[in-house]
Amino acid sequence: MIRKLLRRVFNHRAAPLSAPTEPARIPVSQHGIQRGQVSAGAVKVCATLQDRGHQAYIVGGAIRDLLIGHLPKDYDVATSATPEEVRALFRRSRIIGRRFKIVHVLNGLETIEVSTFRAAQNAETDQHGRVLADNSYGSQAEDAIRRDFTVNALYYDPLTETIVDYHHGVADLQQKTLRVIGEPRARYREDPVRMLRAVRLAAKLGLIIDPAARAPIRDMAILLENVPTARLFDETLKLLMSGNAVRCISQLREEGLHHGLLPLLDIILDQPIAERFIWLALENTDSRVRADKSVSPGFLFAALLWPELSRTWKERQAAGEASHPALFDAMDEVLAAQAQRLAITRRVAGDIKELWGLQSRFDKRTGRAPYRLIEHPKFRASWDFLLLRAQAGGIPEDLPDWWHRFAHAGQSEREELLRAASANGVKAPARKRRRSRRKSAEPKTAVPELVPAP
Ligand code: ATP
Ligand code: MG
Repeated sequence: MIRKLLRRVFNHRAAPLSAPTEPARIPVSQHGIQRGQVSAGAVKVCATLQDRGHQAYIVGGAIRDLLIGHLPKDYDVATSATPEEVRALFRRSRIIGRRFKIVHVLNGLETIEVSTFRAAQNAETDQHGRVLADNSYGSQAEDAIRRDFTVNALYYDPLTETIVDYHHGVADLQQKTLRVIGEPRARYREDPVRMLRAVRLAAKLGLIIDPAARAPIRDMAILLENVPTARLFDETLKLLMSGNAVRCISQLREEGLHHGLLPLLDIILDQPIAERFIWLALENTDSRVRADKSVSPGFLFAALLWPELSRTWKERQAAGEASHPALFDAMDEVLAAQAQRLAITRRVAGDIKELWGLQSRFDKRTGRAPYRLIEHPKFRASWDFLLLRAQAGGIPEDLPDWWHRFAHAGQSEREELLRAASANGVKAPARKRRRSRRKSAEPKTAVPELVPAP
């Protein structure tokens, strides 16, 4: 089945990309982006490069975003200067990457990514046609061809305030269309991540993926399996933290692309409570991003994988493992399954485990344990997580409420809350342990129910 799919995907040969004729040069009177609206750092980089006789433009997402009234996240500059020439012109700069060399130029707190115009030819590829290295430099027209979507191939010269548009990107943006430059199948084969980018950008910008670009995605999704896991992790993170995660994931499911992303998402989304939990987590993330609040990758992945963890944890307990070791073994099992497809970095994995591990401590509402928990540096994040679980219907709604009150109460109110919790039959493992120790110290005849039948 997989082989058949691969054959179908690879039997389509790439249509050669033809160099476009003269680009459109759109003046500020038509597009409206003035120099003052773009980052001062990016303007400075372009001005310095142009001053030395190089071509230099602001390119990509920033111009696209400004045209539709979004605030750009970061700025990319494309230039005719080589990475070494760029490096020599800016004191606070460094060359990064070897297979795809670019220069990071620092300006105050801002980092401007400067890349040299690239030519599509001579790129090194793997056996599936995926481009592995691409350091052959070319003209601006060649650089425009190798960009992914027409709306991403817009070059803005901040000195003349002109947009150079080779592939009708401005018109596509006006018509709310996301169109691949060249033949979509060939472009996805070169870099399967473009399929994910199509979905993410369409969701973020409210664009419709052009039918020709959309049609092959379902068949070609399988190619994502050849993409290095670290790159998939980065793309997934971008997608999930874009502020449009709900829209992105819905669209990914429609396109059949979620398989390549989070392998367990399918299974998870089939269970009603789990599905509710995941959508709530994504909605929660989206509203935090939109309100400019911090979102940690650890929290997000902990949430997405929670239903799976919770299932594995229960299974292990049902098989006779004690709750605590079962939880920690389940964590390792779930993260190991993900690692095969998604290289969750070690630091993020550490954050995930910490959040998960803290969840079991919310059950202990007796003795000193609650005092220790509210002092924990990750109490706030783990409480947010608890709230999410309650909203999804996985645990009683009054549990997060109790902890919120406990964390903000004075001493006497805290004691009152602890009394109320134990009167409500709260699980108290510490006390139970003590009682069972006492019981075992007593003559066995006093506790006949604990004595195994002879
Ligand atoms: P955003 O910054 O909102 O995520 P972006 O389009 O700026 O979107 P970047 O990853 O910053 O995305 O890429 C900058 C530009 O580089 C893009 O606009 C596009 O022109 C080009 N680009 C990025 N990734 C690819 C790719 N996989 N294939 C071809 N061109 C790409
Ligand atoms: Mg960008």
